[in-house]
Amino acid sequence: MQAITINDVLDARERISRVVRRTPLIRSSTFSEWSGFEVFLKAENLQKTGSFKIRGASNKVMSIAPHEGQRGVVTGSSGNHGQAVACVAARFGYGATVVMPEGGSPVKAASIKGYGANLVYCGKTSQERLSFAEKLAKESGGAFIHPYDDPLVMAGQGTAGLEIIEDLDDASVILVPTGGCGLISGIAVAVKEKRPNVKIFGVEPAGSNSTGLSFKNGKRTALDRIETAADGIRTTIPGELTFPLVQKYVDGMIEVTEGEILYAQRVLLERCKLLAEPTGAVALAAILSGALARLAKSGKAVALLSGGNVAMQELAEYLLRAGPNG
Ligand SMILES: *Cc1c(COP(=O)(O)O)cnc(C)c1O
Repeated sequence: MQAITINDVLDARERISRVVRRTPLIRSSTFSEWSGFEVFLKAENLQKTGSFKIRGASNKVMSIAPHEGQRGVVTGSSGNHGQAVACVAARFGYGATVVMPEGGSPVKAASIKGYGANLVYCGKTSQERLSFAEKLAKESGGAFIHPYDDPLVMAGQGTAGLEIIEDLDDASVILVPTGGCGLISGIAVAVKEKRPNVKIFGVEPAGSNSTGLSFKNGKRTALDRIETAADGIRTTIPGELTFPLVQKYVDGMIEVTEGEILYAQRVLLERCKLLAEPTGAVALAAILSGALARLAKSGKAVALLSGGNVAMQELAEYLLRAGPNG
């Protein structure tokens, strides 16, 4: 049996609508002219907490029994998921503990602390963080909130897909960045179970291509080396629950280079006045690089801008590295 169906996504939407923002779908005439597609941007960089992660986090936190919530929620994440969990927990008056990597970004730590969460540091890899967070949750009797491999989290992320097809009922392609695949699996279920003709492609950096590799091999395959500025998707292996849905519904995987990602980030800011973190620009990079044109004919293409959380100092470096022409 698959982890979630369209009904779980519809339930999620009911549950979280008073917590999350309905983000705009923005048509870009510049990118349309450049690419030959009619390009639309799903602006989850403008979502509360600066990324789509609050969709899944709120669906999970709002589903746990209040007596369990009172014992606190725990997660392991250096970034957007940690911020989302901290934000939602605060809203419901639950304590939150976020396990960060040793030497993790002080900007992200400050933001998580700003929502009132406790910070704990452990290890370097996401596996170390998640195992430690799970252990803390067991000890305290609180709820562990996985960043992607949880049906409620996946269904919450899928609500972005419902909004896209409502706003653009003749979309031909939707491009989604992939890490652990909670986002793309939720969107794929929501979109394909309503509109089977819409194509869905996952996009990832060439230096962090575990989903593409797994897709090609027909089974979950781990990377032993990851190199990308896209820190939201430095995942070594797609999820156990999420990957079967990728196999069932996703039409293909696309790789983009670091130069293509930073170029997309730069032109989003310059042309559309939209600030994306590098991960948030990965899907657009697949359109602007010409990669999508090799897989699909012209039509309405939606790039999901998944997040906008980037430290200003890092942004300055990325903008310089992107150069005038990418
Ligand atoms: C988490 C994240 C992703 C990837 O989501 P998965 O569910 O792990 O595939 C993409 N972009 C941003 C900005 C993220 O924070």
